[in-house]
Amino acid sequence: MKTYFIQIIFSIFLLTQCQDLQNHQDLQNNQDHQDCLDSISTESLTKGVIVAGPWNPPADVLRVGDTQDVPYHGAPRIADGGYCESDNPWACSCHHPDCSSGLPGTLAFARYLRMAFPQISSAGGFQCCRQNTSNTANLSVHSIGRAIDLMIPRINGDADNTAGDEVANWLIVNAESIGVQYIAWDRMAWSAHKSPGSKFNPFNGPIPHTDHIHVELSLDGANERTPFFRNGLINEPARQCEPRCDGSRIIDANCNSGDCAAYGNTCIADPTPRCGVAECPRSGSGKVCGNESLIIDCHDGALVGTGECGQFAAYCSNAGRDPLDATCVSAFCVSGPSELPYDQLKCSFINGKQIHCKNDGSFDLIDCPTGQICSMMNGQVACETPRPECQNSNDPNQVNIQNVCIDDHIARCENGNIVRVEACEGNNRCQMINGQPICVSAVCLNGNTIKSGHQFCLDNGMIGECNAMGDVIPLMDCLANERCVQNGDEVYCVAVASVPDTNDMGNNPQSNDDFGQITQVNDMRVNLERNDQDLNSQLGTQMNKVYEKPKIDSCGQSYSKFELYLILFIFTLIYQRKSQIYQRKSQIL
Ligand SMILES: [Zn+2]
Repeated sequence: MKTYFIQIIFSIFLLTQCQDLQNHQDLQNNQDHQDCLDSISTESLTKGVIVAGPWNPPADVLRVGDTQDVPYHGAPRIADGGYCESDNPWACSCHHPDCSSGLPGTLAFARYLRMAFPQISSAGGFQCCRQNTSNTANLSVHSIGRAIDLMIPRINGDADNTAGDEVANWLIVNAESIGVQYIAWDRMAWSAHKSPGSKFNPFNGPIPHTDHIHVELSLDGANERTPFFRNGLINEPARQCEPRCDGSRIIDANCNSGDCAAYGNTCIADPTPRCGVAECPRSGSGKVCGNESLIIDCHDGALVGTGECGQFAAYCSNAGRDPLDATCVSAFCVSGPSELPYDQLKCSFINGKQIHCKNDGSFDLIDCPTGQICSMMNGQVACETPRPECQNSNDPNQVNIQNVCIDDHIARCENGNIVRVEACEGNNRCQMINGQPICVSAVCLNGNTIKSGHQFCLDNGMIGECNAMGDVIPLMDCLANERCVQNGDEVYCVAVASVPDTNDMGNNPQSNDDFGQITQVNDMRVNLERNDQDLNSQLGTQMNKVYEKPKIDSCGQSYSKFELYLILFIFTLIYQRKSQIYQRKSQIL
């Protein structure tokens, strides 16, 4: 991963450079991509450049150099806040607040150059606060931590151009990206801030720079603010970083860093930092959902493109599909992105056509015969003659939506199509109330009117009431020794008086035709309340029956205990009367 990251970062860096090369100068027109990369990796531009005299870069290098522009920032005057204890410009005798033993970019760049160019025997020039040997009133740029001396051992007392020119030419070509403001090598100097055509000049200082390349970094370069540092250094040893994300920036173990946002991604710690988006799995190519409608193209964790299902009235859906196989599913066919699309017919409310939804989330439109539109009742989609209840809007640009009652169903009409129905449960009836279809309890309905406040006895003995929406609401319970009794529209609780069974003389109290309790009500009528009827039959038929006293049959049919007691009482009275007469007779006798 680390190597891969470095390759990506460096490739991007090189591509940028190649683009600059192609844009700014006339390298061979047929130079292909790889040639360009090779040239930048210090091969063709510098290979085998050997000159007898001073540094003499190839014309190609100078032409690229003329496209490079880096502002020059020199070292401050020593007198501005500092002083030197010695007149010897080489003595590290100066004191100045700007003196530095190396700014971070300078130190990192020195390490990088030693790795990239093994012919450099050492790189240094830090940790010495001294005068500029060419202008002793100023500090040396070395002293403020922005100059490096790259040591190239001499050959036969002269500069090794084969070794040194390669480095110096590379510094010219990449000056702007790195932030190289000035180069001195083998009696010549190159100044990035000077005009094209006048950047390369003889070096007039006291030392010829035949054993080292003096290179100065700009303020941005020395502080790692240039593209070269932002995109990461290659092959640089010794730096160890905790791999991490810093916002959208990614930092690897070698402290290479890059900005994932440049490619539409961010840095994700999962757990090794990577450029990508959280929605994309770490490896593999395909599509995932970013949100309800956003579809994302992923490649190895990174976002490479996006699409918008919402533009096609669709959801981004992964339901029933492989992880990297998200697709747009028509909102005609599913109610949400998590719903699995399946083969089914639905109605289009726009044009009255049937919609044939398919398993993959796509759909076809099917025309209905002339004069018919798509409707759906009881789950069945069919072409039907438009229902009068579903009044179609004549405005083709506006979907006309109505909720109406159709055959005791609450139906949703869209531009004349029935697109959804919901049956009223049980004995409930669909009734339009204030322009809206409502399922109303049948007992609360009188024609098209809700009997709001209407009271009646519920099956469980409670008193119930219809509310304004036609729902039955339990209102109150009768006491333990009371029963709910309905008399016309009046409902009240009355005390219960237990009496013998009326049908079977009490011999079979569990029989189904048992009429149960006889109660005496306040109007002195005797009512009989059935206790084996359900609510609807109770309410749909006469709830109370007037008790009729059974006829006494001389052949000995049914008599209640009360009646037997009455008969016995009468006989007793007769017997006592007879006894009194007999006794009176006896007294007379
Ligand atoms: Zn130097």
